[in-house]
Amino acid sequence: MIPISTVELGPDVEAEVLKVLRSGMVAQGPVVAEFERRFAALTGVQHAVAVNNGTTALVAALQVLDLEPGDEVVTSPFTFVATLNAILEAGATATFADIDDVDFNLAPDAAAAAIGDRTRVLMPVHLYGQTAPMGELAPLAADRGLALVEDSAQSHGATLDGRAAGSFGIGCFSFYGTKNITTGEGGIITTDDDVLADRLRVLRNQGMRARYQYEVAGHNYRLTDLQAALALPQLDRYEQTVARRKANAATLVEGLAGIPGLVLPQELPGRSHVWHQFTVRVTQDAAVSRDELVARLTEAGVGSGIYYPKLVFDYETYLTHPRVKVSEVPTAARVVQEVVSLPVHPRLSDDDLRTVVDTVRSILGA
Ligand SMILES: *Cc1c(COP(=O)(O)O)cnc(C)c1O
Repeated sequence: MIPISTVELGPDVEAEVLKVLRSGMVAQGPVVAEFERRFAALTGVQHAVAVNNGTTALVAALQVLDLEPGDEVVTSPFTFVATLNAILEAGATATFADIDDVDFNLAPDAAAAAIGDRTRVLMPVHLYGQTAPMGELAPLAADRGLALVEDSAQSHGATLDGRAAGSFGIGCFSFYGTKNITTGEGGIITTDDDVLADRLRVLRNQGMRARYQYEVAGHNYRLTDLQAALALPQLDRYEQTVARRKANAATLVEGLAGIPGLVLPQELPGRSHVWHQFTVRVTQDAAVSRDELVARLTEAGVGSGIYYPKLVFDYETYLTHPRVKVSEVPTAARVVQEVVSLPVHPRLSDDDLRTVVDTVRSILGA
């Protein structure tokens, strides 16, 4: 089976983890601090605050904005459930704007139309490894007086006109096992705002500034040095990792071109895609349905994934939730039925890539 994703943790990672184990300091300490410095540099921001997972990063980013009951966050309906859960956990109300079917991210016109009297936050998601259209979304947030929280969980180091995801507003990243950089579980919040960074650090540590001095009612959101140690070697070679992902995506684009009903992903002008996922759309013009394609890929030993099978709010628990405001999002509603992601990870061999291409071509009769 060619897996949809792999974890690549070699001897360099083992050595870093062993150093921490032997140091006797396994909780949050100097390795987390080094990880923060280096992730801030990758993202081109002043501050990075490490937390225990990506969902926590989103929750904490919203918590330091001092939202009030009834305050609304506009986000994408085409995302992982953590985006929505974080909004609800922070006590805010979730509202949605439609996406664009080329980059799968919030469409600026739709986002503008979704902003209402109670909107306080615009929360784009940089899905699959490509930034949302921040050239339009960042000025939109600024003009309307909204905070900008970027769900960057899938887009470490992705850029738009040279600026990285997570550097336009408050960036929230995940280091879960399947992401481009992983610590098993982990997250980080990036910002250029000194005051917000300070508040995030205090919030993360039980609201404590100096020992037993509690400034706010906080939480334990800390990451451990053991976890941060996993990330350091991955940061050393992240440029090569992304180059590999880009090369694999280019091979897939070339091999899968010209198949009726198969729409290939695009790296849009000015954007550097880090190819967390390589996601195609299977339209009505294809020889088989999306679900049939997935079934036959599985039979042939080619892993694939549907991210995501439904709109994020399209579950009973959210449809009936008093703080979820559902809206019409026709593009997203169509796209959830069309998408399937194919393997693009850095461990794929040339043979694997050829197998993926040949298998998809043969199933789609091309
Ligand atoms: C992975 C992910 C998250 C949540 O990160 P965790 O570390 O799993 O909590 C949030 N948003 C998106 C889009 C994700 O892909």
